[in-house]
Parts: sequence; C-alpha cells; structure tokens
Amino acid sequence: MAELIALTEVRKVYNGERAHAALDGVSIGIAAGEVTAIMGPSGSGKSTLLNVIGGLDRPTKGTIVVDGVDLGRLSEAGLARFRRARVGIIFQFFNLLNNLTALDNVTIPAQLAGMKPGQARRRALDLLERLGIAPLRDQYPARMSGGERQRVAIARALINNPVLLLADEPTGALDSHSGDQVMAILGDLNRTGQTLVLVTHDERLARSSATRVVRLVDGAVADQRGDGSRSLVQLQ
Ligand code: ADP
Ligand code: MG
Repeated sequence: MAELIALTEVRKVYNGERAHAALDGVSIGIAAGEVTAIMGPSGSGKSTLLNVIGGLDRPTKGTIVVDGVDLGRLSEAGLARFRRARVGIIFQFFNLLNNLTALDNVTIPAQLAGMKPGQARRRALDLLERLGIAPLRDQYPARMSGGERQRVAIARALINNPVLLLADEPTGALDSHSGDQVMAILGDLNRTGQTLVLVTHDERLARSSATRVVRLVDGAVADQRGDGSRSLVQLQ
C-alpha cells in the first residue's frame, strides 16, 4: 500500500536544548485513510511529531514525505503553501481568531489559498451546516462553548480539503459530552476517507478507533502497532 506519510529517522533538537532530542530517530509509515493515535507521557514529543508532519516546524535530521512531497526540499514559502493546501490542524485550545466571527475564521484559510471570496463563503457555510453550527456563523468565539469553538476549528481545518487532518489533543479542553461529539465528527470524516493523525491520552479511544497506535517515550517510538486495516476503525 502506498504510504501517505513516511518519516525516516526523524530527529528534532530545539535550539538551546542540549540534553536530549525532542524526537530521536522516529520512523513511521501511514497509509491514506488511517486513523493514527499518537500517545505517550507529557514531554515525550507528541506535539513536535505532529508539527513536523504538518510542516509547522522542520526536523533537525531525517526525511518526511507527505502526499508525495519531500518537506525538506521545500522553501519556507513552499512549506507554507503545502500547509495551506494539504493539511488541516486542530489544537487543544482551538486557536481561533477572537476578533473574527465563526464564518470569517473558517473562510480565511480559503482566501489565503486563493479561493474566490464567494466560493470560500459558500464552502464555509456548507461546513458550518455539516458541523451543526450554522446558527453561530456571525458569533465571535468568546460567546461560544468549548465544543462549539472546536467545531468552528474543525470547519476551518477542512475548508481547503486537506489530504491530512492533524489534531493535537482535540478533546483535551472539552467536557466529556462535547469531547464525544468532536470525536464523532472526526469518526464521520474518517469514514468518508479522511486520513487522521491524532494526539490523545485516551487509551479507550486509541484501542477502539485507531488503525495505528504510536507510543512515544523520550522522543523515540517505544511501540507501534497497526496494520492500517479500515475494519479497525470504529470512532464512536
Ligand atoms: P508532548 O506534546 O508529548 O507533551 P512536546 O513535543 O511538546 O511533547 O515536547 C517534547 C520536548 O521538546 C519536551 O522536552 C519539550 O520541553 C521540548 N520542546 C517542545 N517545544 C519546544 C520549543 N518550542 N522550544 C524548546 N523546547 C521545546
Ligand atoms: Mg503536546
């Protein structure tokens, strides 16, 4: 099976960090359509791994190929274009722009990618509708619940039709009901073919939903299991 994501011996050392590497020789292959759960203790390198896969940061050594693109060969502008066009990212604390409405938060990445304003707006409205938050289109994030904010963030992540959706503890700041709703949305997206890489602390979720589980300890893969089989996927 062709791999959508291939990491080979990836190492990441942050500036000024001498004692240990945040990622230390990580090699992973992920096929299109998989749900990969990244697990491990705090500080083990989970966010760093997600960030280098999404082109938000560069590794110190090693190669990362996503959707046929060797990220190490891209210029800064090329990497920004890659992120915008092919990757959607969801964060624990939503990272919405507080001075923009839900609709504008969702529309902006499409406009940055060069979509015509009318088309971007139609697509954003369609996504807000699909995520059950169309009535909130003119609201500002401060007036929304955590679960509503995360749904806006998911719509924003999907606006450019990414081949890859990354989520860094997407339910970490939500009550369990909103968290379940967000996971159900991610499950629905996966069922329609969306590849998903997700940092989570939830063992139950990883066991029931992921086609692949990568456990990090001190920046290295301590355990990796999964055959990529879609039959394992049972988000919600
Ligand atoms: P996790 O998401 O598993 O909690 P991180 O990837 O955030 O782990 O961090 C891995 C290691 O890299 C930790 O030792 C952390 O302190 C360090 N680290 C993360 N981000 C930075 C940064 N921007 N600058 C310096 N060190 C960092
Ligand atoms: Mg983290």
